[in-house]
Amino acid sequence: MTRLPLAACAAALIAACLPAAVHAQPAPQPTVLVRAGDLFDSEVGRMVGPRDVLIRGSRVVEVGPDLPTPEGAAVIDLRGCSVIPGLIDGHTHLLLEQGFAEGLSAVAARDQGVQGDVVRSLAAAGRAREYLEAGFTSVRDLGNSGLFLDLMLEQGIRAGSVPGPRIYGSGPGLSPAGGQLEPQPTDPHHLVAGEYRVVNGVDDARAAVRDAIARGAEVIKIYAEATPQRTRLSVEEMAAIVAEARRHHIPVAAHATSDDSVREAVEAGVTSIEHAYQVSDDTLRLMAARGVFLVPTDVSLERALEITSAWPRRPPREEIEQHLGTNRDRLMRARRLGVRIAMGSDAYGPNPAGRGAAARGALDAYVESGLTPAEAL
Ligand SMILES: [Zn+2]
Repeated sequence: MTRLPLAACAAALIAACLPAAVHAQPAPQPTVLVRAGDLFDSEVGRMVGPRDVLIRGSRVVEVGPDLPTPEGAAVIDLRGCSVIPGLIDGHTHLLLEQGFAEGLSAVAARDQGVQGDVVRSLAAAGRAREYLEAGFTSVRDLGNSGLFLDLMLEQGIRAGSVPGPRIYGSGPGLSPAGGQLEPQPTDPHHLVAGEYRVVNGVDDARAAVRDAIARGAEVIKIYAEATPQRTRLSVEEMAAIVAEARRHHIPVAAHATSDDSVREAVEAGVTSIEHAYQVSDDTLRLMAARGVFLVPTDVSLERALEITSAWPRRPPREEIEQHLGTNRDRLMRARRLGVRIAMGSDAYGPNPAGRGAAARGALDAYVESGLTPAEAL
């Protein structure tokens, strides 16, 4: 007979003696009571005064004035503060940092060829933390994340290895030939394939969606057009992507800036349009009729001045205001025509205040455009 080491015997004995129910018992959920000085209620769209928020595990279970403190609960006293629900950034790129005048080919060469996935992921983990500290509890990470590094970061956050918001990742964006890298006759290091899933035809489009979902994608990102490339996905390819994603109950977010591309993506049935800088009223009406979200990735005046301060030739303030005016006009036209709007920052530049603070600037941009602060929240 083989003799088990003593520790193994003890472990076997304990396992044998414990009833099955003990093994199945979940760990007790931590209970937290937040005492808020002034609470924003997103359902009524305003501040509602002092409220207590009771949280068990990861769920808010009760909100009301002067709640009793449950036994063993941790109390967070924020009576001197305003409290809002966790923010959601509908469009970000935790794995991307693009400096001024740096093309996406140069960024891809640095990320893939010089620094590699480990350095890139560590930097992304830092940005995820900045997001959380700035009040964001969820983000959609939409491509430019190498080969599924967004989903790996999500795993690390979920496992508690690094702090960060809940990430809904897409993996590499589904794009026409060339991805978003500058047109070039050769790509000897396969930089395009390291950042994008190039789609060739309807069958390939469906396969690309299934591959992303199999790896854990919770949103599909597509490039209806891929400026500075001149290539575009066909309506048939986009429709196939949408059909396949719908079968799996996964939303499709389409990068589109020109009116033609926005219209084609909406006709193909996508869930949201990202950017839509040049969208016409007619196309906005179609978006409203089909319930397609607009994600206006706009920057505030303060952020625009900050970004342009690093440029070799700083544009005059009127020029910046004029540029921002186009975005503001399209946001207010969308609101007037009844388009559903979701917040998205598209923050991918360096920011001394941190990525989360930069992302919050999109809310300032919406208020500068004419939304009320409550609408922006
Ligand atoms: Zn983006």
